[in-house]
Amino acid sequence: MVALLGGGAYASGALRLDDQPPAPPNHPIVGPKRLDAETTKMIGQIDPARIRAADLALVGFGTRNTLSSQTDPARGIGAARDWIYDQFQQIAATSGGRMTVELQSYTQGVSTGIPTPTVITNVVATLHGTDPASANRYYYVSGHYDTRCGSTTNATCDAPGANDDASGVTAVLEMAHVMATHEFDANIVFMAVAGEEQNLYGSARAATLAQQAGQDVQGMFTNDIIGSSLGGNGISDPYTVRLFAEGVPTNETTSEANTRRSIGGENDSPARQMARFVRSVAEIPETGMHIQTVDRRDRFNRGGDHISFLERGFRSAIRFTEPNENFNHQHQDVRVDPDTSEQIGDLPEFVDFDYIARVAKVNAVSLAALANAPSAPKNVRITSNLSYDTALRWNANTEPDLAGYEVVWRKTDETDWTHVIPIGLPEPDANGVVRYTAPLSKDDFFFGVRAVDKEGNRSPVVFPRP
Ligand SMILES: [Zn+2]
Repeated sequence: MVALLGGGAYASGALRLDDQPPAPPNHPIVGPKRLDAETTKMIGQIDPARIRAADLALVGFGTRNTLSSQTDPARGIGAARDWIYDQFQQIAATSGGRMTVELQSYTQGVSTGIPTPTVITNVVATLHGTDPASANRYYYVSGHYDTRCGSTTNATCDAPGANDDASGVTAVLEMAHVMATHEFDANIVFMAVAGEEQNLYGSARAATLAQQAGQDVQGMFTNDIIGSSLGGNGISDPYTVRLFAEGVPTNETTSEANTRRSIGGENDSPARQMARFVRSVAEIPETGMHIQTVDRRDRFNRGGDHISFLERGFRSAIRFTEPNENFNHQHQDVRVDPDTSEQIGDLPEFVDFDYIARVAKVNAVSLAALANAPSAPKNVRITSNLSYDTALRWNANTEPDLAGYEVVWRKTDETDWTHVIPIGLPEPDANGVVRYTAPLSKDDFFFGVRAVDKEGNRSPVVFPRP
C-alpha cells in the first residue's frame, strides 16, 4: 500500500497508513468480460444500408406528425405506424416465436399540443427472455416515429424527420433485426413511440402500462437524434455519442432526498450506474465508439422519452444523442434560406447512416449485456452503526447461473468505480439476505454491489441505502 503520509510529522507511536493491515483484495475495475463471439457476430450484422432504406421509407411518408392522417395509406403517421408494425412482424417471424408485436393505442384528450382528441399509437416488439427467474425483468429501447416541422401542431407541412427521430426508430428496428434470432435471459422491448413532439405522450403511455403490469424495468434507453456526426457548429465527431443520465432521481421522494443529503449519492442514481455500465461494456473496438457521458437528465432544459420512464419510477432510463446537433436540421420547415442559400430541414442528405449503425451497436451490446446478466441486486443496504468498516446486505439473486457478487468502491470524489472486491457466493441467511463487510470506512468511500453470472456477465451496480 502506498504511504500517503510523510514520515516527519508522525513520530513513533502514531498510526501511519502504511502500518495498516493489507488492503482488501481489490483490483482496478474492468468492464464486464470480453465481448463473446456470439455478440461480436450479432453486432457485426448491423447494416448501415438497411438503416438507410428504413430511414428513406419513413421520410417517404411526408409527415409523421402525431396530428396527421391516420388513414391515408401513403402520407401521414398512420402509414408510418403500419409500416413499422409490418417491419417488426417480419422480424418477429425470425425469432422462433420469442418476439411478439403489438400496437399500443389510446386516445389522448385535448391537452398540450393536442387540439382535438387524438389516437396515439406505439409500435412495440417484445423479445421474451428464456430464464424463468428473469421473466419479469425488462429492458426498453426506443425511438419516436412522430415528427414536426416548425410548428408542433401543423399536421400537413412536410416533416421528414430523417434524423429526429427516424434515426432512433431505424436503430431500434435494426437492433430488433439482429437480436431477434438470439436468446437472452431477460426481456427486451423494442419500441417506436408517437406523440413525443407534443409532450412525450407515447412514452408516458408505455411507462404507465409497464407500471400497471408490475414490470421490473431495469433499464430504458431512448435514442433521439442519433443520425449525424456533423454539428451545426462545424464539428465532425463520428466516433462519439452522448449519453445523458440524471443525478438526483426525477421522482425522488422527500424522505429519499433527506437520506441523500445525509449520505451523499447525488452522483449515484440508478441512471448514473447505468451510464457507467454502458460505458464499461460498449466503449470497445467492436463498436468503435467513445461514449461521452453527460451528467444531466437531458440536454440543457430539454427533454425526451426517457423522462416518461424516470417520472414513473423507472430510474435507470437514459438518453443517447449525437455529439453535436444541427438546429437547422430539426423542428424546421423544409426550405432554402434566401439570404444564405442554406438548405434547412431534417432531410436524409444530412444523415450519416454509418454513424447510426455504430450507435445501434452501442445500444445492442449494452442490451445484450444487461439481458444476459443477472438482475441488479435488490434492497441493497449499509448498516448505519458506528464502525470502521462497512457492513452491506442485500436480497440474494435467484438466477440459476448466478456465480456471485462483487462489491465495488471508490473515493467519494471519483466519478466512476475504481476498485472491485469479488466476494463469491456467500450463503444467504434464512430470510434470503446476503451479507458482506468491507474493511473500509463508509464515511470515506462510496460502495456498490453487483451480481455476476457464471459466464462473467455483470449487472449494473446498485448504490446502497442506509
Ligand atoms: Zn426527437
